[in-house]
Amino acid sequence: MRRLASIQRIMALEPIEGADNILKAKVLGWELVIKKSEFAVGDFCIYCEIDSLLPDKPEFEFLKAKSFRIKTIRLRGQVSQGICFPLSILPEGFEIEEGADCTEALGIIKYEPPIPASLAGIMKGGFPSFIPKTDEIRVQILQNVLTKYKGESCFITEKLDGSSATYYLKDGQFGVCSRNLEIEENIENTFWKVAKALNIEEKIRSLGGNYALQGELVGEGIQYNRLKIKGQTVFFFNLFNIDTFEYVSYADFMKLMKQLDLQPVPVLNDNYHLSDSITELVEMAKIKSKVQAEVWAEGIVIRLLNEKFDKWLLKDLGGHGRISFKAINPEFY
Ligand code: ATP
Ligand code: MN
Ligand code: MN
Repeated sequence: MRRLASIQRIMALEPIEGADNILKAKVLGWELVIKKSEFAVGDFCIYCEIDSLLPDKPEFEFLKAKSFRIKTIRLRGQVSQGICFPLSILPEGFEIEEGADCTEALGIIKYEPPIPASLAGIMKGGFPSFIPKTDEIRVQILQNVLTKYKGESCFITEKLDGSSATYYLKDGQFGVCSRNLEIEENIENTFWKVAKALNIEEKIRSLGGNYALQGELVGEGIQYNRLKIKGQTVFFFNLFNIDTFEYVSYADFMKLMKQLDLQPVPVLNDNYHLSDSITELVEMAKIKSKVQAEVWAEGIVIRLLNEKFDKWLLKDLGGHGRISFKAINPEFY
């Protein structure tokens, strides 16, 4: 389970122009608006990330109208992401320690958008254990990783706001999965429809091994289809070798996309030297989409060109541990 709420320090407080009763606070790599005199610099708080779904309890009553969901908001022109609570909302006996995960103790879960019927499909089983699920960590919590890998060559792709799709071939068997499940074959289902339309099964077969292709399904009926795509399609971002339990390198992946006539997610830069500034990386995410001009991109995904694994990413954040993360465009919400 993802850490959504944790004990953190208020790193800085700054005034907001034209606003007397609120301040801009910095917590981890996040910026948020707080009431004046709620916290001082250096104080501990409980920081809850966006997409936290808080329980229906008296201390969260003021969020009832927002269905208890923490979203990105803008106050007096200042983007505010997340929310800070005093430590007093913690259950008695909770050990106060910087970084301590309070997600479970507070009964917080992750908000998941409702899934339309055309995407849900009929569950065939859980997500295959021989393929890593797709996921990207938010850059705002990765200062130590940025410091460690500063200057390394990276590639940057546009993050598309659709639905995660995994197509795989293992021991002759073709499978189709959404973010968390494997889906029964059914032509009414969008994941399967797109697989048929793009001949994905044959294309994976032509690789002559056990592979999983992972991408973002986008188009009509998926999320808000902000990119205004006609019909539905998929843009790929991973090719995973099931036998060696390794992702195919960026260079080979791009070659194969061409060869198989499949679309990769838009590549924005294929020789970027990693900055260690979270602010700078979030600034880089403020871009328009390559898929649809004049529409804000959801953000960017940054990965090292020479894949590296970091134990810290495995331990604290789950997943496969490779250095790959997202910066969401604060203008996109
Ligand atoms: P969170 O956990 O941050 O609340 P989430 O787990 O639902 O959110 P996203 O914010 O959508 O996931 O970020 C990860 C997902 O982004 C991946 O699972 C993948 O489906 C999708 N994605 C879209 N574009 C890309 C891309 N260019 N590279 C990698 N993943 C991408
Ligand atoms: Mn995630
Ligand atoms: Mn997404």
